[in-house]
Amino acid sequence: MEIYTLVVNPLGENTLVAECGGGKCVVIDPGFYSGAEQDKVMNCISRHGLEPVAVLLTHTHADHIFGVAETQRRFGIPVYVGEADAPRPCGDDMTRWLGLRSVDTSFTLTPVSDGDLIPAGECSFRVIGTPGHTPGSVCYYEESLGVLFTGDTLFAGAIGRTDLPGGDYDAEIKSVMEKLMALDSGVEIHPGHGIPSTIGHERMCNPFLEPFNEKEEYDGND
Ligand SMILES: [Zn+2]
Repeated sequence: MEIYTLVVNPLGENTLVAECGGGKCVVIDPGFYSGAEQDKVMNCISRHGLEPVAVLLTHTHADHIFGVAETQRRFGIPVYVGEADAPRPCGDDMTRWLGLRSVDTSFTLTPVSDGDLIPAGECSFRVIGTPGHTPGSVCYYEESLGVLFTGDTLFAGAIGRTDLPGGDYDAEIKSVMEKLMALDSGVEIHPGHGIPSTIGHERMCNPFLEPFNEKEEYDGND
C-alpha cells in the first residue's frame, strides 16, 4: 500500500492519502488548514491519478478535520468516524484555545463502531474502537496488508494525550494494550503526528508502555 503523508496545519498533523488498489484511495484525517496545504493534498491525489472513495477519521479534534468539509464537497464521499465522536465534531472552544479559525463543519458523518468493515478499492479497513484520547477514537486496520492508522491513540514512542475534554487515561491504556498491542509485531502503524513505526517496536520501546515493554527475543533468563 502506497501511503503519502502530508504534514499540515500549525499542529503538524499527518493527512494521509493511502492507495487502496484500482486507482482508488482513502484520505485519513484531512486536516489541511491553509490554501497552500489544501493544494498540496489535492495535488498529491491528482498527481498519482487517484480517486478518493472515503475519508476515514480517527477522531474529531480540530487539527484532524479542518479539511473534511472541502474533501467531502469535492469528491462527494462518505466520512467515517467513531460513533461516540460523531455527535460533536470539535467545537470553537478548542480552536479558540489554539488561536485558530473555526472548523467548517458543513459535512455529513457516517458513524462506525468496533468491528465494522469499510470496503475501499481492493482494501478492507476494520474499525478498532480505541477510546481514550477521545471517547470515539478509532483505528483503521487493513489486515491483509498489515497496516494500521492509529490517529492520536498510538504514536512512535508515545500515546495520545488524555488531558483534553473527553480524554480518559485508563481507557487509553486499555485500548492500546488490549486492542493494539495484541496485533502482530510486523504491523506498520501510521499515526496522526510524527513518524511511522511498528507494533513490535512500540511493544519493546514505547516509554509510555514501559511497565509492559517486552524484550525482542527471550534471552534464556527469567
Ligand atoms: Zn487529537
